[in-house]
Amino acid sequence: MQIFDSHCHLDDPAFDRDRAGVIESARTAGVIRLMTIGVTPETSAQAVMLADEYPEVYASVGIHPHDAKTCSAPALEQLVQLTKNPKVCAWGEIGLDFNRMYSPQEQQEHWFIKQLELAAGLALPLIFHERDSNGRFLEILTHHGPPAFKGVVHCFSGTQKELEQYLELGLHIGITGIITLQSRGAQLRQLVSLVPAERLLVETDAPYLTPAPEKNRTRRNEPAFVKAVLLKLAEVRKEDPEKLARIVWENTNRLYSIN
Ligand SMILES: [Zn+2]
Ligand SMILES: [Zn+2]
Repeated sequence: MQIFDSHCHLDDPAFDRDRAGVIESARTAGVIRLMTIGVTPETSAQAVMLADEYPEVYASVGIHPHDAKTCSAPALEQLVQLTKNPKVCAWGEIGLDFNRMYSPQEQQEHWFIKQLELAAGLALPLIFHERDSNGRFLEILTHHGPPAFKGVVHCFSGTQKELEQYLELGLHIGITGIITLQSRGAQLRQLVSLVPAERLLVETDAPYLTPAPEKNRTRRNEPAFVKAVLLKLAEVRKEDPEKLARIVWENTNRLYSIN
């Protein structure tokens, strides 16, 4: 089984002691490609450095809604420069997060729109982060999204209506370890069968969101654990895990334009 962890944060200090070992464990588990995500200019630069260092690691660059308050035109220019590296395969994660409000709504929306406009000219797929935006995310995407864009709503945890609107827009749906969690994952388990197989991605969002059963053993999530997400997804959808793994692998490479 070949698995692509479509979203992780390998630059996180949680991996400082054993980053190479973590990538090696992923490989042993069949997780042979990893997309590491930028959320600020600094972490985006680190993501690109990791992609340069490890053949199986690819990078995205972007400003997370939490960090919108620190965004600026020069910061975005820095990210544009980073996209010249051939291992930068996506722009993100970008979007809106009104759950924790680490940045004011107005700034989140302003820099989300700016990044949508910027990405339109770069022809990169988009990685979206949405939480509790009460419809604003979809409104902005509909009005300011590039005319034709590819993307993934990472760590999907929305409603059926939102899911249907994402699918209508042609978006992919990123499934995390939430699907393995007993009560927090209940709604997600009901919705995942509505997603056509060719729109599914799996991800860890490591070092966050450790799936069960690894959760009982360690608090830190890591890319190797994305296999538990894939197996749970296949179980819930009543599909053959090997076959689903093949489809999801192809989806991820196609979205990120990796051969
Ligand atoms: Zn996110
Ligand atoms: Zn993330």
